[in-house]
Amino acid sequence: MYFSYEDLGKHELVECPECGMEYAPTLEGDAQFHRERHEYLDGIIAKHGFIVLYEERERIKKVARKTIANNNSSLPEKQDAAHSLLKCYFARSIESMAEYYQMHVDLDTFIAMMLNNEDIFGKDTELYNSLVAKYGKKEGIQKGMSYYDPPA
Ligand SMILES: [Zn+2]
Repeated sequence: MYFSYEDLGKHELVECPECGMEYAPTLEGDAQFHRERHEYLDGIIAKHGFIVLYEERERIKKVARKTIANNNSSLPEKQDAAHSLLKCYFARSIESMAEYYQMHVDLDTFIAMMLNNEDIFGKDTELYNSLVAKYGKKEGIQKGMSYYDPPA
């Protein structure tokens, strides 16, 4: 952070129509922070074809968890929901790496790493096994965690 919240209060905020970030263009530190974030988000989209930002992630995760927990959902519905949920975790994980996003694994590898935790979907072994059959399992994310931590 290059400025205080008090500084920020003296400047007008705008919302970037592309990345959705609210920032103060007239406050150099904040404008720079936005430029950097905007740049790595663009880089993530160029490399992986998508990004899901915070508010959308929260909305998707809520719907996906409901579908997975619903006994009336079909297996393909649950698989779709699980894929959406894991895509949100992927987006959060890669966004957290900021300008180091190039070190992050791709979505399918990330999913295989998340599936290394056999409790990820609770007792729904049918869903779990069907996803493992598709993506496999890989080491790289600690059980109970949902962030990729690149090897040092
Ligand atoms: Zn932006």
